[in-house]
Amino acid sequence: MNFVLFFMEQLPQLKALLNVPKTCVILSHRNPDGDALGSSLALSLYLQSLNHKTRVLFPSEYPVNYEWMPQSEEIIIYDLNQKLAEETIKSADLIFCLDFNSLERIDRMAAMIMERKVPKIMIDHHIDPEPFADLVFSEVSSSSTSEIIYDLIKAISPDIRLSAILMDCIYTGLMTDTGSFHHATSPKVFTMMADLKRQGLDDTRIQELVNNSLPDKYLKLLGHCLFNRMELIPESQFGLIYLTKEDYRNYDIRRGDTEGIINYLMMLKSVRIGALVMNQPTIVKLSLRSKGDFSVQQICSKYFNGGGHRNASGGSSKLSLEDTITKLKDVVTQSLTQVIH
Ligand code: 5GP
Ligand code: MN
Repeated sequence: MNFVLFFMEQLPQLKALLNVPKTCVILSHRNPDGDALGSSLALSLYLQSLNHKTRVLFPSEYPVNYEWMPQSEEIIIYDLNQKLAEETIKSADLIFCLDFNSLERIDRMAAMIMERKVPKIMIDHHIDPEPFADLVFSEVSSSSTSEIIYDLIKAISPDIRLSAILMDCIYTGLMTDTGSFHHATSPKVFTMMADLKRQGLDDTRIQELVNNSLPDKYLKLLGHCLFNRMELIPESQFGLIYLTKEDYRNYDIRRGDTEGIINYLMMLKSVRIGALVMNQPTIVKLSLRSKGDFSVQQICSKYFNGGGHRNASGGSSKLSLEDTITKLKDVVTQSLTQVIH
């Protein structure tokens, strides 16, 4: 169904749920990114302004360059405090699922969420939503979940004057999920930006906080990736960078430190499909990007237990790093022949 119709049809149901003060739990995905944080914290601030109690809950920790975000210190991390996370889920009257559409993205929390018979509201922009929520606001053409949160706020409270901290959250999601307005843009994104700027958004400050606040080790790791860990396969217009367990130790790689590395591959004219393959402690994690029609979402959902967007997706593998790379090269080559012929 057309998203606008779907949106308008479900809106009264969402409004009805928010009619009396509730305890709202806002949940986002493992390895939360700028949009997971931005959309969750923006929704939380908005619901608080409507007199609801809110708790934001993530499966795993968020990168340090988001520590400045409003109320980020109150986010409950399942990996660090399982008991509190479980109690929080039990106390929820409403559960919002933001920036993910497949239960595998919240791993061990999924069973707990599904056990709760309270309304679940999915707000997301990834391909192929799983049918686990009661209300679904899902739109793949939206740049970010933060954009849909902005739409919902404006639809419920048309005359609202957005607070500076709420705008900072929305902007963070918008900026990070569009790669600083390089992709997934639309006239609406820039109209939204104009609205936020008109209301006093300090976007340069947030660019500095998120993009220009990395530790020195980031460039050392990047240099290592580009010089020692990059492989280009010209016949497939495919490029990959991999990281070994040893690299994780030697470069003290932690959450968020590999963010953005894949973008360097995509800067090359010769690369149409790019991959970052990371040998993390328990799994091999993959980040894939593409230019144009080639869908890395299909590769990730078909072969690597993942998904995302056509041009930006992720997944994982239980094979060794070497075998994962071999499989990846095979499936990319295969998919290319299928696309071409
Ligand atoms: P990234 O490569 O930056 O981690 O993620 C790119 C996109 O793919 C994001 O929209 C992210 O939510 C999605 N994604 C990343 N990893 C996974 C995964 O393991 N499973 C699914 N379903 N989506 C993922
Ligand atoms: Mn997103």
